[in-house]
Amino acid sequence: MTCSLNQALGWAEEILRQLSPPGDYRLFAEEHTETAGEATSSAGAYSSNLTITWDEMEPQSTPVQSGGEFVIWLEMDGGSVGAVFQEDEAEAEVIARLADQFQDYVLEVSGSPAPPCPEHQHPLSAVVVAGKALWTCPKVENHFSRPIISAAATH
Ligand SMILES: [Zn+2]
Repeated sequence: MTCSLNQALGWAEEILRQLSPPGDYRLFAEEHTETAGEATSSAGAYSSNLTITWDEMEPQSTPVQSGGEFVIWLEMDGGSVGAVFQEDEAEAEVIARLADQFQDYVLEVSGSPAPPCPEHQHPLSAVVVAGKALWTCPKVENHFSRPIISAAATH
């Protein structure tokens, strides 16, 4: 299964609700281009990952299609962070990446771990297990995990 931009924005909203952001925030998406990623310094890390991906492709055989690649931006507390995804990526990978990037940023702004592990003081980690995006306890194996996006929200 693949993800559309609207679907990914819905996931981003759902993830943000779970992260208890400390103040107002804004989510928006834009088409990803090479220059767009470089315009904002906070996107640098993701842009460089992305560049590697593109470099591995054979440019003659697969022309880059416009509209297939997007950045979902989270704007909060005077800064922003963006997660890049492509429409042909697996849903779980996109969900876990959104959760991971946004979680890091909210934690940086708020200073409180979210979503918290039910039994520990740390935040849960976003991982992909067997094709599903899960929040899991990062310390104790098989201690706790739940879907990042509830089943109802994926349809
Ligand atoms: Zn834990």
